[in-house]
Amino acid sequence: MKQINVTKTYLPSIDEYSKYLEGIWDRGQLTNNGKLLLELEDKLKKFLGVKHLLLINNGTIALQIAIRALELKNEIITTPFSYAATTTSIVWENCVPVFADIDERNLCINPDEIRRKISPRTSAILATHVYGNPCNIEEIKTIANENNLKIIYDAAHAFGVNYNGKSVLNYGDASILSFHATKLFHTIEGGAIVTDNDELAYKISYLRNFGHNGPEAFHSYGTNGKASEFNAAMGLCVLPKVPELIQARKIISQLYDTLLKDSGLEKPDLRTNTEYNYSYYPLLFKTETELLVVRDRLNCENIFPRRYFYPSLNTLNYTGNQPMPIAENIASRVMCLPLYHSLSEDEARKIVSIIKG
Ligand SMILES: *Cc1c(COP(=O)(O)O)cnc(C)c1O
Repeated sequence: MKQINVTKTYLPSIDEYSKYLEGIWDRGQLTNNGKLLLELEDKLKKFLGVKHLLLINNGTIALQIAIRALELKNEIITTPFSYAATTTSIVWENCVPVFADIDERNLCINPDEIRRKISPRTSAILATHVYGNPCNIEEIKTIANENNLKIIYDAAHAFGVNYNGKSVLNYGDASILSFHATKLFHTIEGGAIVTDNDELAYKISYLRNFGHNGPEAFHSYGTNGKASEFNAAMGLCVLPKVPELIQARKIISQLYDTLLKDSGLEKPDLRTNTEYNYSYYPLLFKTETELLVVRDRLNCENIFPRRYFYPSLNTLNYTGNQPMPIAENIASRVMCLPLYHSLSEDEARKIVSIIKG
């Protein structure tokens, strides 16, 4: 029986990818702002409608470089309901993650909870657009302005999401993307930082390259956040397909919606004025027990949904004891159903019939 996972990477034909490889072989340049990297950065900026986009070797290093570039210190208020990368990058950069609980309807960080967590040591807010669902951007901006805080959005799920008619990546001081193979748009491994701040973009450009200022001089220390020509080649193959990939996912998502309407199971609320990318199909069970029963039934049929996000990040052994009742409750009973471009309608029907038992 064919295995169905929560996602399946879109791969171009080998021929298409090979055409780019021929160019790499001709030029002999494999990384360091090569032709394909520059071309992909340019195309992504146009596709997304953003001012600066700097490719980075993955989304986690992108978060770390964004934290460095903004010179964040001490406490960063963040969400407990995200992937571990969001929290671990704060800790890795010697800052302290202070959690603010989430909104139980849209599952993003709750601005009222952010307000309660602000202290004289707070330097920034790091919030995730969960499943590509935009945060309460207006309120977060107001809070940041009132308290002189920076804003970073973890937009790893939000490629191609528009909010109020423009890319959701245009909000905050910086947004980070992940182009990991499991994401809607991918470069095998990869990521990016998006910002409209010229000075910040310049700083990121040398922080990702050891701090270099030309071949023999350095602006400062830095790290190696560079992507390669091979990553860029994959991105150039995948990017033109993104509208089709989104459309195929939309059809399956809408079929799930229809088939699950009478199941009593809920989905998070999508923020209004959002053009969604259908990157995930999260389903909220009434209890963790019910979720585990359904997961076992699906696993028996070789179908592997994913408990995403689980566990709640405040329960990790390195974040201190910060109870987050809503995030812990949601994390215990949310599961993402298989959703990808080549999932067939029959497969989706079968998944729902197994869920309904
Ligand atoms: C995938 C993901 C990341 C990390 O991206 P990598 O490219 O795998 O390092 C960060 N945040 C969230 C929310 C993610 O889903």
